[in-house]
Amino acid sequence: MSPLEQNLKKLQRYLGRYALDGIQHRIAGQDVKGSAGTFKSISPVDKSEICSVARGNAKDIDKAAQAAKSAFPAWRDMPSKERKAILIRIAEGIEARAEEIALCECWDTGQAWRFMSKAALRGAENFRYFADQISAARDGKHLKSPTLMNITTRVPIGPVGIITPWNTPFMLSTWKIAPALAAGCTVVHKPAEASPLTARLLVEIAEEAGLPPGVLNTVNGFGEDAGRALTEHPDIKAIAFVGESRTGSMITKQGADTLKRTHFELGGKNPVIVFEDADLERALDAVIFMIYSINGERCTSSSRLLIHESIREEFEAKLIVRINNIKVGHPLDPSTEIGPLINEEHYKKVTSYFNIAKEDGANIAAGGDKIGETGYFVRPTLFTGAHNSMRIAREEIFGPVLTSIAFSSEDEALQIANDSPYGLTGYLWTNDLTRALRFTDKLEAGMIWVNSENVRHLPTPFGGIKASGIGRDGGDWSFEFYMEQKHIGFALGNHKISRLGV
Ligand code: NAD
Repeated sequence: MSPLEQNLKKLQRYLGRYALDGIQHRIAGQDVKGSAGTFKSISPVDKSEICSVARGNAKDIDKAAQAAKSAFPAWRDMPSKERKAILIRIAEGIEARAEEIALCECWDTGQAWRFMSKAALRGAENFRYFADQISAARDGKHLKSPTLMNITTRVPIGPVGIITPWNTPFMLSTWKIAPALAAGCTVVHKPAEASPLTARLLVEIAEEAGLPPGVLNTVNGFGEDAGRALTEHPDIKAIAFVGESRTGSMITKQGADTLKRTHFELGGKNPVIVFEDADLERALDAVIFMIYSINGERCTSSSRLLIHESIREEFEAKLIVRINNIKVGHPLDPSTEIGPLINEEHYKKVTSYFNIAKEDGANIAAGGDKIGETGYFVRPTLFTGAHNSMRIAREEIFGPVLTSIAFSSEDEALQIANDSPYGLTGYLWTNDLTRALRFTDKLEAGMIWVNSENVRHLPTPFGGIKASGIGRDGGDWSFEFYMEQKHIGFALGNHKISRLGV
């Protein structure tokens, strides 16, 4: 049996359980049917139905919010050692079921096994990391004044809503859920309608690890009903959202009446800038990896290549050879590098840019077409001869599509890089240290890597500026979002109190 056939066989075994009842919500430790009926989860590999999924609405969200509210005091007050032990057991549960998580994720999203098998394990790392931070999460400062001993302490904000997208959904949801639970918050999770499978696995693993019922609740459904109701619910104190910039702006409006605290990780059109003095072989590897891995469905992907005009021709020529060699195929085949795009709507969006590029006057130097009709497969694509004013340089395509733009000077590269509504990541390739310092100082992005692809280190702040987000994940920044600072001042003696009405 080939590795693909072996993976398919295992997948069938894992999917068997959904045949009868599909995926239900999980609220207060119980399976709950959707008040708005069901919807179908479709595999992008062959457009087949995977299972039915409970479709939630405001009624289901209310039930989940009540469960999260009731579970909050006991979870908040549970000794940190015990909460830590539960989070560690969740990490162990993820590791034990990493194969199931990865296979289901590949089938549900079209992501290649080579990346998803690692992403599942990164989910476990997220739980371990935040479990380790629990003991210090509530620590504060003492800030003595002449008359007062001032202390600060941090307390969890309350039940929170977490709304996640469909790209690497398991790993991304653990990024949010692990610190929220570590902070002492309870959670209502609304996973993306396009990728519901692994959210179900996560809540199951968490309950098996001893997470009390109601601490993590999962409500499936669409953004406009379940998602919206979550952002409007008065008992939900904060919304951590990962998704498109325009959805972030809708959530700001929806949460206004209940003064919702929000944390947004949104879209990007990230530049990778390659100077003539860079290590061009390493730059080539990184440029390719950062746009064609994870199907290019990655917020931090470097979708704009800014290349110095003196090396443009040679660099693009090498790029084309490598792109044409990338293996597009079945996501469960371990040799596959690019799988199908998530769904029909997104496939139409991504492929529409092939014509947009031509209309705008760019060249399609590689790819630019669909593959077959059975699933949502596209060829990895390179647009050359582009200008930053073109739609292919301004809009987030969110697929394996790279736009190459030439520059002639450092100033011009910086101007092009910053001329974007987004500001998530930037990647710089140069061996000139002072140029790197100058350039990164002025580059408008929340995260920048010099002579490197994106390498996530959990203690560092993750997030974007401009239309790419508000707030940061990672390290103590995560706790700042899920917790409230409190100040308490103790009088040191009988200081003078102004007397009125004497
Ligand atoms: P999306 O905004 O369409 O959906 C994300 C989630 O929001 C889904 O669960 C959806 O149901 C929900 N939603 C939609 N409308 C809503 C509403 N009105 N109220 C409440 N919830 C609503 O995004 P997507 O297409 O699923 O994901 C792709 C996007 O996510 C891309 O733009 C990508 O860049 C971004 N993303 C950003 C990061 C980051 O860290 N910055 C990470 C991953 C993905």
